Amino acid sequence: MTHLEQLIKLLARLPGIGPKSASRLAYHLIKTDAAYNEQLAALIETIQQRVFPCSICGSYTEVDPCPICSDPTRDTTLICVVEQPQDVITISSSGAYNGLFHVLGGALSPLEGIGPDKLDFDRFIKRIEGGNFKEVIIATNPTEEGDTTAMYLKHLLKGKEIAITRLAAGLPIGGDLEYADRLTLARSLRGRVDFSS
Ligand SMILES: [Zn+2]
Repeated sequence: MTHLEQLIKLLARLPGIGPKSASRLAYHLIKTDAAYNEQLAALIETIQQRVFPCSICGSYTEVDPCPICSDPTRDTTLICVVEQPQDVITISSSGAYNGLFHVLGGALSPLEGIGPDKLDFDRFIKRIEGGNFKEVIIATNPTEEGDTTAMYLKHLLKGKEIAITRLAAGLPIGGDLEYADRLTLARSLRGRVDFSS
């Protein structure tokens, strides 16, 4: 295999990149300026050391605890549970939320063999028990996996003196949170519904 073929093969493993796009990107990298390639390569090489999960919430950060967990102006009685670190950015950018976050690292999917042991529920429950939270907002994706995860969270929180809510309808069903626009997200946060009964 030539170096070009290897590069195309590696690029094609990136999410959302098919063989055609991978080939287009590879040819672009050959003719672009060398400084760009060097900067890109250096960042890719060190990104996992520089950006890592926050030890408290699991969101990606360059300092531990992350800026959200160490922000004294945050409402520490509110905690929003999301699937992925990028969901924290999506919800923050809606401007309608000033509480804390908890990143599970995925959603339950019996079909793909992702059971409760694969996600970070233990740390979540410990955090709930050690904090003074009044409300848990479940913001898993509006998908089958997201719904299953929401039901499981509800089950875990059973008997605890805490309100459980879920984002209101209006989010694109079957889609990921990250594709929702800011206004829709802000509206579904403000209109969040009781999920405890
Ligand atoms: Zn954090």
